[in-house]
Amino acid sequence: MKRFAILTSGGDAPGMNAAIRAATLVGVSGGAEVIGIQHGYQGLLDGELTPLGPGDVVDIIRDGGTILGSARCPDFHDPKARVEARARLAGADVEGLLVVGGNGSLTGLEALTAPSENDSGLLGVGIPASIDNDVGSTRLSIGVDTAVNTIVEACDKIMDTATAHDRTFIVEVMGRACGYLAMASGIASAANVVLFPEMGRTPDEVIETVVRAVLGAQRRGRHRSKRVLVIKAEGVDVPLDHLRTQVEARLKEELGDVRATDTRVTVLGHVVRGGRPSALDRQIASRLANVGVKTLAAGRTRLVACWKPPKRPEDATPADPQCSTIDLSVVLEETRAMLGGSSGFVRWRRQAFQDIENMLAI
Ligand code: ADP
Repeated sequence: MKRFAILTSGGDAPGMNAAIRAATLVGVSGGAEVIGIQHGYQGLLDGELTPLGPGDVVDIIRDGGTILGSARCPDFHDPKARVEARARLAGADVEGLLVVGGNGSLTGLEALTAPSENDSGLLGVGIPASIDNDVGSTRLSIGVDTAVNTIVEACDKIMDTATAHDRTFIVEVMGRACGYLAMASGIASAANVVLFPEMGRTPDEVIETVVRAVLGAQRRGRHRSKRVLVIKAEGVDVPLDHLRTQVEARLKEELGDVRATDTRVTVLGHVVRGGRPSALDRQIASRLANVGVKTLAAGRTRLVACWKPPKRPEDATPADPQCSTIDLSVVLEETRAMLGGSSGFVRWRRQAFQDIENMLAI
């Protein structure tokens, strides 16, 4: 492969820079020219193409965000825009494209590389990056580990106050329609309740779940903290003000006007998206990018480099035994199943949390 390009698209995720760095170094050391496309698919349409060399990527592994910038590009839904994008890449002699992004960006890649009559022969490989972990077929997307660590660190701090004052804190975390961040950080921060959209609870059931946990905490005994940590995924469609006031009202009914009814809310918001990538994210991003470049160099296309060891050692990708290259269409189908709730993983997560919910609440 003489020349390939890389872009980052959709929501930014810590570790995207590690992927850019690794793709550049692996590409250049294999004799290829590497082109960075700024601002995702929008920048591709606008011709924001610049060469990337080893000097451009020194030390970017430590930085959150993405040196290429990211963007959302509504025009890319239009087939005409994708014809333009293919022509732009062919005009710049770009033979392959690495797309680092979430499920929307990978859907864009599938459309961009769809075989057609006037096929430009563009090769495309995806690298999942999304703090939400809402891309199917990969155990982790780039950015998830850093985001979980950020949430756990924040909850540890919030719990100091909660413990001192015997308070209930509801902490809302990002994740769009996916509850993974809430579930993973809930376990790691010893939450008493994890509210995630895949559970499919009604607003009243959500309120009662929190109330049950606070009443459970009241039975912990004298001189024991009655603190309660509730982690709520943003995808749970109950406004925070409503949740807080309804929980307090129900607790007053149960307990009377006592301190235990005091409930506080913290929205972590974009804090969770930024920051220095964790060691694991740097590693995942670097290794997936290595696999991505080698997959393009082997002339393969419409694949996603996934952080998932193959079931049998003989199926391992030559570039990395912890990674699999999986058909883009399979990844997107599993993504839809995850978001629609029919994926086996989502069913397992729902069951697992149903099983441990009573234990977490005591
Ligand atoms: P993420 O990649 O983080 O999931 P988005 O869902 O916003 O972020 O998608 C990023 C970009 O991918 C969109 O702005 C659009 O340019 C492109 N994209 C998403 N879905 C499609 C689609 N169905 N067809 C073509 N392009 C798409």
